Amino acid sequence: MPICQKCEEKWNWIQTIKTLFRLKCPYCKQKQYESASSRVRSGMVTLTFLVVILPLNSLLDVSFGMGLVIGIIMVILILALYPFILTLSNEEEPYW
Ligand SMILES: [Zn+2]
Repeated sequence: MPICQKCEEKWNWIQTIKTLFRLKCPYCKQKQYESASSRVRSGMVTLTFLVVILPLNSLLDVSFGMGLVIGIIMVILILALYPFILTLSNEEEPYW
């Protein structure tokens, strides 16, 4: 779970999901940023999902509707996992 770099409070899963798009600390109300290493990890997780799901889609000849359902489930799964991979930083870190 992410730990605020300002007040060092640990966010729980629900708090992280609630502030997922703003990343504002629920304790000290300070803006936090996703750290560069965390961005790499979340990118890897997303990529792994795609690598596993895409060949499966074509192998099983999934219909468009079914593909859409699988896509939505994937997004929910990635969001549910996100608080476990997220680490925070006080400043916006460069990508490279
Ligand atoms: Zn805080």
